[in-house]
Amino acid sequence: MATVLTEPKSIQALIKQTRILIGNKWVDSVSGKTFETVNPATGEVLAKVAEADAADVDLAVKAARKAFHAKAPWRRMSASERGKLLHRLADLIEQNADELATLESLDNGKPRHVARTADLPLVIACYRYYAGWADKIQGKTIPISGDYFCYTRHEPVGVVGQIIPWNFPLLMQAWKLAPALACGNTVVLKVAEQTPLTALRVGELILEAGFPEGVVNILPGYGPTAGGAIARHMDIDKVAFTGSTEVGHLIMKAAAETNLKRVTLELGGKSPNIIFSDADMDHAVEGSHFALFFNQGQCCCAGSRVFVEEKIYDEFVQRSADRAKRRRVGDPLDQNTEQGPQVDQEQFNKVLSYIDSGKKEGARMLTGGERVGDRGYFVAPTVFSDVKDEMKIAQEEIFGPVMSILKFKDMDELVERANKTMYGLAAAVWTRDISKAHNVANNVRAGTVWVNCFDVFDAAAPFGGFKQSGIGRELGEYGLQQYSEIKTVTVKL
Ligand code: NAP
Ligand code: MG
Repeated sequence: MATVLTEPKSIQALIKQTRILIGNKWVDSVSGKTFETVNPATGEVLAKVAEADAADVDLAVKAARKAFHAKAPWRRMSASERGKLLHRLADLIEQNADELATLESLDNGKPRHVARTADLPLVIACYRYYAGWADKIQGKTIPISGDYFCYTRHEPVGVVGQIIPWNFPLLMQAWKLAPALACGNTVVLKVAEQTPLTALRVGELILEAGFPEGVVNILPGYGPTAGGAIARHMDIDKVAFTGSTEVGHLIMKAAAETNLKRVTLELGGKSPNIIFSDADMDHAVEGSHFALFFNQGQCCCAGSRVFVEEKIYDEFVQRSADRAKRRRVGDPLDQNTEQGPQVDQEQFNKVLSYIDSGKKEGARMLTGGERVGDRGYFVAPTVFSDVKDEMKIAQEEIFGPVMSILKFKDMDELVERANKTMYGLAAAVWTRDISKAHNVANNVRAGTVWVNCFDVFDAAAPFGGFKQSGIGRELGEYGLQQYSEIKTVTVKL
């Protein structure tokens, strides 16, 4: 494995912001506490970051509520002006994209060139997409009975709490902020404790873009403390959460026990990736490799249950194992690296324990299974064949570079097995037969289905889960519904 290239001095120069953003000011936490954020490639501390807790959330909510006042600049601003601010932010992120990609790579471990060519273009596109929507969010006039004029207004929900994970820090920030701001809400955003740095740098760009005081507040901090305080806050109108299904339950419970704030959830998955024997084998092998191993396997929609038709099973297994062996694991700053480290020690341990469980339950490990190198949280790309539906590695979200390949006979059996999980985030099917493709697309219970492709994301296309993979949709026009309230106005004529 190559050594990590960046000099400590140049790393420090990149980290421009480590405090909390409240009311357009950078502040320390009320408690004065900080926490460390670590470079997962080396295990070294990158920076100490202000640790927000309930008291800081309270201050942020006050600032956001003040910014939401009917007479405050944000509410008096025209919709097209809101759009312009979002466009300005997109431009600033674009101008700083190289630096943001490096910082994302250092804090998260993802290869720098992937952050630069995949994450950042999607981030910029998301802000631009919703910038375009800002002045196109409109109600209807409705021909009700009697002598009345009836119309609807799409109004912002109010103060929105947002809690995001560490796997795509900049992108999750964009998916949350862009639609919320386009609709005219104000925001209290808690970023993941593992990866706070890029969100804070974007906070600086938000100020540079000229967003009014208190519209966007950004808090680094822990889930049970700062995140819990958001979920329970009586003056937050809505909470949007992305992360584990387990915490999704807690968020909903907290909302139910307090003020019935609106809840949208984007949670885990165990997505079936289905390969029929008539598929283009080269594409299916490479596409399935990407579907599972992309982002160190840390994707909510990862194609983590690979169902392969009996006839081609052995060949597919062999070729997938060969491809995984060739995957280049190493320094995230190296242009040739395909896979960096897992995000932290906890995730690293969790992935290794799932590998253990796969071996114990009788799956056949063809490659991988161990740590790579002697520092950082690198896991060798791992492939299991002979995986059975009831095994833990086929049921639970591993969130790491571990592929499980299952065998199927025919379509009837397949769809039932594909749906036999509490999740329903995504699915994919590889075939040259359009009837098979549509049969799967119609019958699999998932929010997104990819045919002969995987992980195709666009700001215009909605994303979200069936079943316990979530509630609501992000992105696209559907994403606006989650950030607006419909008001019906009836006027006697
Ligand atoms: P997580 O705990 O669900 O974290 C997601 C976000 O929720 C983080 O900002 C986290 O804060 C916060 N949080 C945690 N507990 C909370 C609580 N009680 N109340 C409010 N907010 C809370 O996920 P994780 O621990 O990072 O990862 C665990 C597993 O979740 C992964 O192995 C994976 O299976 C799944 N996951 C899924 C996604 C996804 O995109 N669907 C993303 C990440 C993880 P902290 O910063 O303190 O963690
Ligand atoms: Mg956590």
